[in-house]
Formats: sequence, C-alpha cells, structure tokens
Amino acid sequence: MSHPIPFFKQVDRYFERAARFTDLPAGLLTQIKNCNAVYQVSFPVERDDGSIQVIRGWRAAHSTHKLPVKGGIRLTMMASEDEVTALAALMTFKCALVNIPYGGAKGAIQVEKREYSQRELERIMRRYTFELIQKNFIGPGVDVPGPDMGVGAQEIGWMVDTYMALVPGSVNVSGCITGKPLALGGIRGRVEATGRGVFFGIREAVGVPEDIEALGLTPGLEGKRVVVQGLGNVGYYACRFLQEEGAVVVGVAEREGAIHDPDGIDVDALLTHREAGESILDFPARTHMERSLDGLELECDILIPAALENQITEENADRIQARIVAEGANGPVTVEAHDILARRGVLMLPDVYLNAGGVTVSYFEWLKNLSNVRFGRMNNRFEASSNSRILQAVESLTGKEFAPGVRESVEVGAKEGDLVDSGLEDTMVEGFHEIREVARREGTDLRTAAYLTSLLKVADTYGERGIFP
Ligand code: NAD
Repeated sequence: MSHPIPFFKQVDRYFERAARFTDLPAGLLTQIKNCNAVYQVSFPVERDDGSIQVIRGWRAAHSTHKLPVKGGIRLTMMASEDEVTALAALMTFKCALVNIPYGGAKGAIQVEKREYSQRELERIMRRYTFELIQKNFIGPGVDVPGPDMGVGAQEIGWMVDTYMALVPGSVNVSGCITGKPLALGGIRGRVEATGRGVFFGIREAVGVPEDIEALGLTPGLEGKRVVVQGLGNVGYYACRFLQEEGAVVVGVAEREGAIHDPDGIDVDALLTHREAGESILDFPARTHMERSLDGLELECDILIPAALENQITEENADRIQARIVAEGANGPVTVEAHDILARRGVLMLPDVYLNAGGVTVSYFEWLKNLSNVRFGRMNNRFEASSNSRILQAVESLTGKEFAPGVRESVEVGAKEGDLVDSGLEDTMVEGFHEIREVARREGTDLRTAAYLTSLLKVADTYGERGIFP
C-alpha cells in the first residue's frame, strides 16, 4: 500500500503538534526531529541456483543524543529510506518516553522473505552485518540492532555470529545486538516482550473507570472483544495474554483475509494451523472475509493493528467500530485517520508508547550482556533462603504453621524471567500513567502527550550536555 503522505512526514506532524506545547528553541526542535545519519547499502548475494542478486538495505541512526542507538531490522519488500528513517525516529521517542538510555535507529533489507531459502537468508543476513560493521553501524556502544518484522532469533543468531567472527576480543561482544537465542546471550522473555507490553498497556487503559466509562465500556478486561491484524510476534502474544485475562479474540486479519467469530477464536490453535502452512480462511469461524482490511472494520471493543503501517487511513477510519485502537504495530494509523478517530471519541493507545515493551526487554538483554551475568544468578538462592528464615521466625513466634502451598510460594528467589516480566510491567504501567497525566494536564490526546513527554526528555539530554543550553 502506498503511504498517503510519506511516513517520516507523518511522524514529523505528530512531533510538530507536540512541539507546540513547548517553548523550546526552533533549532533544538529541528535537531531533535531530524535524522542524524542514514546508511544505504547495496550488496550482492548468491542465490542457490548460482545467480547473483543485488539487494538493498538501510540503517538509520535517527538520534545520537544518547549512545548506543537502538532499533530493529525488518525484512520487507516495502522497505525504503522514508520508512526506515520514520521508524528510527519513532524509536528515539519510544526510548526517551520509557526512560531507556538509547537514541533511535532502524534497519531494513528489501527482500520478500518467503522467496528465499534458509541458506540464502543466512547469506543475506551475514553480508548485511558485514556491511554494518564496515561503517560502524553496529556495536555494543554505537548501534544495537534487534528483531522486527520478518526477523527472529535465527536471523539474529547469524548476525551475532558474523559480528563475533569479525570483531573479536571484546568482553561485551554479545551486546552488539538483541533478540538473541538464549545460548548466544539472549534473555528470557524477549520473544513475547512486545506483545506482553501491549497487553500491560491495554490492561492499564481499561483499568481507569472514568476513561473507560466515557467510551461506553465497563472497566477491566473481562469479556472485552478484541480484533487483531497480524498474528505475528506482537499480535499473537498480545492476544494470548489478553485471552488469559478474560478478553475474547473475536477477529483475526492476516495477509490472506480475515475471520470473525463472536464466540471467540482460539489464537493458539489458529497459530498452529497457520504454521502448518494453512490459510486462516480454512480455520473454523462464523465469518470468513477475503479482504484482509475488512477485518479492521469488525465489531469489537479493542482493535489491535499489529502488522504494518498505514492500515487505518482517512479511507476506512470512519468505519472502524472499535472504541479503543491499540497500536501494536508502528505507524498503523495515519495522521488523517488519527484526527477522524479522535473526533469520533476513539481512544488511541499510540505505538510510541504501546509497543515499547520490545525495546525495554532488549535493554535488559543488553545490560545482561554488558555485565556478563544472568539476572538473578547471584541473589536467587540468597533471597529464597532469607524468605525461608523469615517464615520460620514467624512460625516460631506465633506457634502456628503456614498452610500448605504458602511456604512454597514465598520461599522463592527472583529468577531472570521473573525480573524481566516485573521490569517490563513496571515500565509499561509507569509509561501509561505518565502520558495520561500529561494528556490531562495539557488537554490533549495520548499520542501528542507521548511525543511531548519524549521530546522534553531528549531536549533535557541536550541541555545537560551543554548543547542548546
Ligand atoms: P511479524 O513478522 O512477526 O508479524 C507480522 C504479521 O503480520 C505476520 O503474521 C504477517 O503475515 C502479518 N501481515 C503482513 N501483512 C499483512 C496484511 N496486509 N494484513 C494482515 N496481516 C499482515 O512482525 P512483528 O515483529 O510482530 O511486527 C509487527 C509490527 O510490530 C511491526 O509494525 C513492527 O515494527 C512492530 N513492532 C515489533 C516489535 C518486535 O519486538 N517484534 C517491537 C515493536 C514494534
């Protein structure tokens, strides 16, 4: 789909709206919103049939106000410099918003992943990494890529292996990239982090009675009808956690079409079905639709676009029935659509906040790599035995024993996965209430509040560094 207006310009517009709430000098605002550096590369890759194909890729470092810069890499035919710089800008604002000490970056390789064998993909990822190393666009202290659309642990594994081979001798080497498999320095909870973060953000939003009742809904997740576009990493995990807390997934849109069932769709069964190479249109449901975009217009309470940018536009915004649009994807709502939805009183949970869970846990992974120790390794056993001693002291003081199960639930120390989940939840909860407060104070929407909060934090960094005092 062509962008109604270039993606970077859209981010720019959101930025400008937020900037109006500040009295920051124009030069500083320009410095914050402009992209600091873009590297565009073309490289040859040998196909399995022996032919050579030239492939284009990008890496954009939007803001170096903090280093390293950080952002995922996507594999998509739709990749362009505009898209990469827009996504890098979103990363800058996202990191600042949730207090992660990174500048924003993004990378992309222009390929249709399904058309390549595993061996070809490996050659592509390794060569792209080599190109980034040549120009210092990757490294634990300069630029730390991670997963995004079409990139998972396997692709990241090839990249980290290439980096380790070409840049030997550093103890921090595995911090050059995040989203790694566990054996290569990855962290528990990263795979599901973005979806889990989306879940936390929605849970917080529907937990504020005055906001939710104003939408004509009851507070809480129980029974909320959810439609998701894109049953990939973000969409699937968001749905899974929402389902576990009582929400009902009534619609799913994928590339090949959309399905609807008011009685609920089992997303685990649907994922298994799709992973076996089947279409969602063959999955049992009340209604099947051949146009994927029709899925966005289904009746529901919460719509989670979790696939691509520019999905809700001025063309379909009037037909969106959801009362809450929860932006799992980056840039799924155009500026024009934002205005239409806002006029219609739809609550938008903006991408720049809502999908920050991925980079949050990537940050934890990077910290783990820099310290070269698993979280919880040194304190887990100590905490468990100290909790045990407290229980024993209480029992000997009171002369009573704890009920079965209580002792086991308290006599534990935090493990890596527990700490990651807890840090992620804290980040998403704090982030939501921070932007909600700013939105209320300034009389604006959550997106403008999120941009405003972020840009003030970036401006502060420049101020502290003595630039633009
Ligand atoms: P993914 O590749 O795992 O999943 C994307 C899904 O969308 C796939 O199932 C794909 O088939 C589906 N899809 C593609 N085109 C579609 C269409 N036209 N209609 C419906 N479905 C379609 O990617 P992901 O990592 O889940 O990323 C999805 C979005 O979330 C992207 O915008 C990405 O930038 C954003 N995001 C991802 C992360 C992360 O950690 N993975 C973090 C932050 C933001």
